[in-house]
Amino acid sequence: MAGGYYLALDIGGTKTAAALFTRQGEIAGDLVLVVKSETFRGEEAVYQNIRTLLEDLIRRQGAAVDEILGIGVGSPGPLDTKRGLIIHAPLMKWRNFPVIERLAVDFPFPALLDNDGNLGALAEQRRGVARGLRNIVYVTVSTGCGGGILINGEIYRGANDGAGEVGHMSIDPDGLECPCGSRGCFELYASGTALLNILKADMAAGKQSVVFDLAGNDVDKLSGRLLDEAAARGDEYALALYRREGYYLGAGLANLFNLFDPEMIVLGGGITKGRRFFHKTMMETLMGRSEQPIHDDSVCYSEMNDRVVLYGAFFLIREYMEKTPL
Ligand SMILES: [Zn+2]
Repeated sequence: MAGGYYLALDIGGTKTAAALFTRQGEIAGDLVLVVKSETFRGEEAVYQNIRTLLEDLIRRQGAAVDEILGIGVGSPGPLDTKRGLIIHAPLMKWRNFPVIERLAVDFPFPALLDNDGNLGALAEQRRGVARGLRNIVYVTVSTGCGGGILINGEIYRGANDGAGEVGHMSIDPDGLECPCGSRGCFELYASGTALLNILKADMAAGKQSVVFDLAGNDVDKLSGRLLDEAAARGDEYALALYRREGYYLGAGLANLFNLFDPEMIVLGGGITKGRRFFHKTMMETLMGRSEQPIHDDSVCYSEMNDRVVLYGAFFLIREYMEKTPL
């Protein structure tokens, strides 16, 4: 079959996205459908939401189901990729949810599951800023921190599908308590949630900053966007908060360089929108702590933004199917 399509699905805690890819890797009609995950409605509702989203996409694209060669699915972990299980996604209240088995009942094409961080790494190495490099680490910094490791161009999953949990590498053994049971986990310092928690505490403590003025001293209006705006206006509080962000990012990334000596770390996620305010401190901290030589291209930023997991899901299923005789 010369033609044919692949589906890609990105199941997130708040949003779920799907796209139809040509075999060559273009998003058909540049159409990405996004719906709210509505995780509060429970696992059956979340799954039916996914099914409807895929059916809607196939219909809107005017594709026939038998033209679809397979689907790649990205989800937060932990997962069992061999059995196609989402083992535990607290946001979705899923426990051992057999997403691949369910898709196999509703759709006649093969489905493969992988961690969204792994798929981010795959996408960056196949078509993104790390294109063609052999060993890379992808780190996403948004609500939490996730990641994926590619060794010799292949996803490194580890013994239990658990590799790449960069958010839970401890950068302070006596630090803040983490829900994972450890202390001082990277994401407690570097994630968007960490920044927001500091903003909330400092607003409550009566500290002065343009960011609090912009939010009208309303705790619910605090956001990364307002922090960016305050920093752009030269507000010293906002700039110091970004330097702190750069410091913790640099400390975390230094651990990854020391462990894996990758050719590049690719940073993605919402926090990277503020890169111009934290990049310098991040690189200085990294250079001071890495045993490996660090140069300007050692850390690059994802350019695929919201589509990175979809691209990764496409490469996952295409490479699997094209090794599998049709
Ligand atoms: Zn943790």
